Amino acid sequence: MTDKRTKIIQAEIGSDPAYGSVTAPLYMSSNYRFKSIDEKGDFDYGRTSNPNRRGLGKAVAQLEGGAHGVVTCSGMAAIDLVTNLLEANDLILAPHDCYGGTHRLLTHRAEQGRLRVKFVDQTDEKALAVAMTEKPALVMIETPSNPLMRLVDIAAICKAAKAIGALTAVDNTFLSPARQLPLSLGADFSIHSTTKYLNGHGDVVGGVIVSKTQELGEKLAWWANCAGVTGSPYDSYMTLRGMRTLFARMDLQEANASAIAKFLHKHKKVERVYYPGLRSDPGYKLAKKQQSGPGAMLSFEVKGGFEQTKAVLEGVKIFQMAPSLGGVESLICFPTTMTHGGMAPEARELAGIKDTLIRISVGLEAQEDLIADLSASLAKIGT
Ligand SMILES: *Cc1c(COP(=O)(O)O)cnc(C)c1O
Repeated sequence: MTDKRTKIIQAEIGSDPAYGSVTAPLYMSSNYRFKSIDEKGDFDYGRTSNPNRRGLGKAVAQLEGGAHGVVTCSGMAAIDLVTNLLEANDLILAPHDCYGGTHRLLTHRAEQGRLRVKFVDQTDEKALAVAMTEKPALVMIETPSNPLMRLVDIAAICKAAKAIGALTAVDNTFLSPARQLPLSLGADFSIHSTTKYLNGHGDVVGGVIVSKTQELGEKLAWWANCAGVTGSPYDSYMTLRGMRTLFARMDLQEANASAIAKFLHKHKKVERVYYPGLRSDPGYKLAKKQQSGPGAMLSFEVKGGFEQTKAVLEGVKIFQMAPSLGGVESLICFPTTMTHGGMAPEARELAGIKDTLIRISVGLEAQEDLIADLSASLAKIGT
């Protein structure tokens, strides 16, 4: 079997039927001609399907080991899409510390009576077992969690969910298929904000949902067309282009992140580092089991209070202060007001997100420069 590193380079390459271009062309057309009144070609209308979107969906599905990939216009659209498989009274079991946007979506959908949701600390085995007795129709998993990098056992949760007939969906955005394969651990869906590692260059907003079976994939494709949330041809083209270097980027970004985590871990102005690549991290063992590496996201708490934390965030020069992640450029963010600003303060506190927490997405810059940048910023704060 060809390695996935080879497969992603080969995806859609040399597939152009018109001129034999090596790189597949970008098809912007919103329409495709019918051959006769009752015979259409492979494509008819751009919302329903498009060659670039189909190519991207196939490529991600191949990396994830799934049957089908549905490309959406954002990660949130992908998460919303999976909820279309549920009936109005069905229960979703979601992590209490899930992505802020997911928390907001599910909370407000539940308030509207469109579905029911229960947030639970999935690292708490007892709480999880109790929640499972409420017979959720869908169990959502996010590991490592954002921003505290907490890990949960995908295989164990999927097994428990399967036993009660629930579907399982893993938000795999933080690691990408280069480091974690949820479908092989028993999940029905692997969801991505392709805005992050898959595109990897901070210039596309998009999403994808890969399903284990063709049947579930077709249901999702039907809903994506029905609701009109499919991704654009241009974004699909860009995302596949970005994905070709996914493995190479992840290797280097992860090496940078590991070095930064070690540096911060020893630093006297740092209270705590959250990174599953550190031996001291509670997720270290599980990461060895279900991930093929710790990834390139980490967070840390600054000693002192909000003022010190603000000074670190505003003192860095290479790290850009911005909420996204997974690109080649290093980013620094303050979850309280940025990624998790949409969450109620009480929900944030319950999730353990403090006002001294900083999250960083480690990019491809020279390791020494990144460490020097953080070091200089930390040196300036008073203790
Ligand atoms: C960014 C993100 C999303 C949402 O994706 P968008 O592309 O911003 O809509 C969902 N889950 C996680 C873990 C994310 O980081």
